[in-house]
Amino acid sequence: MYLALYRKYRPTTFDGVIGQEHITTSLKNQIKNNAISHAYLFCGTRGTGKTSVAKIFAKSINCENPVNGSACGKCATCQALNDPSNLDILEIDAASNNRVDEIRELREKVKYPPVNGKYKVYIIDEVHMLTDSAFNALLKTLEEPPKHVVFILATTEVQKLPATILSRCLRFDFKLVGIGDLEKHLKYIFNDSNIKYEDSAVSLIARLGEGSVRDTLSVADMCVAYTNKNITYDAVLNAVGAIDKTVLGTLAGHILKGDVHNLLNQLNIIIEKGKNISQIAKDLANYFRDLAVVKTCENFNEILKYPETFVETLKIQANNVSIDIILKALKTFSALDNEFRLTTNPRIVLEVASLNLCDEIKNFVSLENRVEALEQKKPQTINVGAVSQPEVIIKNPTIQPDEKTLFGKLLVSLRKKNEVMLIALLGENTNFVLNNNVLTLHSSNEQEFKTLTKPDNLKILNDTMNEIENGVKVSVEFKEEKKQPSIEEMLKEKFGNDLKID
Ligand SMILES: [Zn+2]
Repeated sequence: MYLALYRKYRPTTFDGVIGQEHITTSLKNQIKNNAISHAYLFCGTRGTGKTSVAKIFAKSINCENPVNGSACGKCATCQALNDPSNLDILEIDAASNNRVDEIRELREKVKYPPVNGKYKVYIIDEVHMLTDSAFNALLKTLEEPPKHVVFILATTEVQKLPATILSRCLRFDFKLVGIGDLEKHLKYIFNDSNIKYEDSAVSLIARLGEGSVRDTLSVADMCVAYTNKNITYDAVLNAVGAIDKTVLGTLAGHILKGDVHNLLNQLNIIIEKGKNISQIAKDLANYFRDLAVVKTCENFNEILKYPETFVETLKIQANNVSIDIILKALKTFSALDNEFRLTTNPRIVLEVASLNLCDEIKNFVSLENRVEALEQKKPQTINVGAVSQPEVIIKNPTIQPDEKTLFGKLLVSLRKKNEVMLIALLGENTNFVLNNNVLTLHSSNEQEFKTLTKPDNLKILNDTMNEIENGVKVSVEFKEEKKQPSIEEMLKEKFGNDLKID
């Protein structure tokens, strides 16, 4: 019979617990110093080891000869407690025993001393599921616990616990397990079980586990079942139904280019092949996360651990796109998980989000280009010339803010903030001048001027400018465009109003 890896490799000592040294060390010390509390609270995401540690702790405080703080597994008490039907370590799932009657019953039983060791241990899993009255009943027991009783409350949602419970427990926060620790653990297990593996496959499994030992090992279980004891990178992708990175790379390429037509086509092909929509969104989010890593970290492949050929593709793509755009895409696809829960048609949600993103990227790129063009124009055409130059007060003489750069950056920041209307108002035709650290925008359209000078809009403009260049203010002035005077006016100017023109 195949025993799931998670069960087969469940730790039996503190030293076997992965990635929670900050907790196991203090618990071992409490046992060594014989300073056991009556109530513990274990908080943290699922699969991080709360129940495993609770069980190890329960056995270890009872063991007759603990080895390095953990139960020896050999003494009479250890052997008695290893029997799952023992009456001294009781596991209660609060999700299914959440009523006050059940907690009252527990309070009755608490009185009886342990059968085997020194302590009777109650492990209450998912304790946040208890009803209010059940909490109150539990609280009474926690207030005056019999000497021989230890409570270990475990929860994934500590914010749902009443303060009265929190204040009576010694709290330990379990953290997500790091990729490195998970990889080490997987390799140990694979070696121990005579399973062959590629390093890149192990990294991928560890990443798919998202910090949970249990989830990591269930992915590993799927892969073992799928591959017959030889785990390759591709096999992992197939086993979990994740999309091949090359396909993702092409998909991401379409998004970055704003190529809506090919994007929709390829999405269609992937979906037709039966890939799960939310998995596609997840894979895309991970892909853009990888791009962000490549873009920002020098040692990116120590972090990503991908096959070489694939890293090249990532590098090329990352070089051709700004980090702002990568983050925008990452944000879009990671936010979809919530939306999928609220819709009956996830496909449309994914498509609409992708299309909006394409559009945003196109606009953003054109803005970036505009700013770049403005910045490049700077040295040749300083048209404010001698009048304003000497008056410019410069905070930092090595970086001189000039009006074109400032105006361009203002547009980009407004775009980032999605201030579409302000961008439209500031459009191509706005003139601007920097004087005494005030960037004055000249509007020649009365309606536009009125809108721009509304207090709310002025505040946005000034706040945004302040983020770009501290100390620079924005003001808006109405300036009628100088019309070319008519010939009649020119003549009148010259000869006076007496002139008669037929
Ligand atoms: Zn023992």
